[in-house]
Formats: sequence, C-alpha cells, structure tokens
Amino acid sequence: PNPSYRWKRVLLKVSGEALAGDKAQNIDPKVTKSIAREVSSVTSLGIEVAIVVGGGNIFRGASWAGSSGLDRSSADYIGMLATVMNAIFLQATMESIGIPTRVQTAFRMSEVAEPYIRRRAVRHLEKGRVVIFAAGTGNPFFTTDTAAALRCAEINAEVVLKATNVDGVYDEDPKLNPKAQLLDALSYQDVTTKDLSVMDMTAITLCQETISLLSFST
Ligand code: UDP
Repeated sequence: PNPSYRWKRVLLKVSGEALAGDKAQNIDPKVTKSIAREVSSVTSLGIEVAIVVGGGNIFRGASWAGSSGLDRSSADYIGMLATVMNAIFLQATMESIGIPTRVQTAFRMSEVAEPYIRRRAVRHLEKGRVVIFAAGTGNPFFTTDTAAALRCAEINAEVVLKATNVDGVYDEDPKLNPKAQLLDALSYQDVTTKDLSVMDMTAITLCQETISLLSFST
C-alpha cells in the first residue's frame, strides 16, 4: 500500500448487533453488503483486513446462562456457534462481490471453514484475502471483543476498529440517556475510571498491553 496510509493491516470487529441493522431478522443483508463494499474499498488500496465477527444478534451466552438449566459454558458454546453463522453469511456476501475471503474458526469445523492457524491467516492477508475469524477465542467466558484484541495482537495488526451501531464512545449509554456526551478521545485509564462499557475489561486490558484502540460505527 501507499506508505502514507496510516495502517497496513487492520482488525475490524463487527458486532452481531451491527449485522442486525434495524431489521427484525437476525441479519440484514443490506448491512452485510455495505460492510463488504467498505472492506473492498479498503483492500483495493492494498490494506490488509482481518475481521472478528460477533454473535449477539443471534445468541449471547451470558443472557441465557441459568435459564432452562443451561450452564454458562454450554450457553457460550452456542454463542460461539452463532458467530460462525454470521461469519459464513459475511463470507458469502463478500465473495458475491468478488472479495476473496477465508473463514477460520477457533475450534475445528473443518467441513465448514479452516481451523485458526496464525501463520496461515497472515499468509492469506499477505495475498490480499480477507480473513474472518469466527467462534471467538474458542473459550467460554470470553467475548468476541477479547477475540478481536487477541487476534489483532497475534497477527500484528496495528489497530482494532470496532463497528457497532453507535456512532462513537459516550460517557453513558445514549439509548438510555439522550444527554450522554460523545467522547472524541479517551485514554485506557478513562475507560476504567469512568466505567465505560465500550469493550469488556479483558479486551481493554489486552489492547492496552499490545495495541492501539479506536472506535467507530457502521
Ligand atoms: N463467546 C464465547 N467466547 C468467545 C467469544 C464469544 O463464549 O471467545 C460467546 C459468548 O456467549 C457471547 C457470544 O459468543 O455472548 C457472542 O459473542 P459476543 O457477545 O461477543 O458478540 P457481539 O456482542 O459482538 O455481537
């Protein structure tokens, strides 16, 4: 890529709620198509894009755990499977507009996608393919935000870009408080002291130790 570009390799976190758009269905094809187009405009500049996809539009482990006798680990495995559904949907959409895309899962589902192999993921990126990381970290009790921070550090991406359906980080939840303030910039310390829930603490700590963090919306 042009050396004047700020980043050469980025990690985009697409949350499940961003995929749902404002539709009643779990996934809005208009949203996946618009993500695919935006990613394509970035890869065409020679910038490498890896994606970690969430699953909250389909299933969130923590909200189900406890109900109907579902233990947290089982609920989280279902949540991780939900991210695989989103990943395959996104992959199919990207390939329909000509973007070569590979899905890698954190646990084996070899008939459906490649297993996560760090060096192989990096190779795909170097060849201009988009890599979608699915099934989070592969471990219950974690989130896909943490998976984003982890994969970003592993593949030496320079930044985590988080795509949700809010236009930035607010000091409070703007859906609950219309007077919430949009924050232009914040330090890692602000996230802790102001108790901001832009990402969970495990993800924030990992980013702080390894990489930079940005936030924006779709
Ligand atoms: N999950 C998990 N381990 C991980 C990542 C995700 O157990 O490393 C499960 C967890 O149940 C979570 C669900 O997958 O609720 C969907 O992921 P997440 O809530 O992070 O998706 P998002 O909020 O981005 O839509």
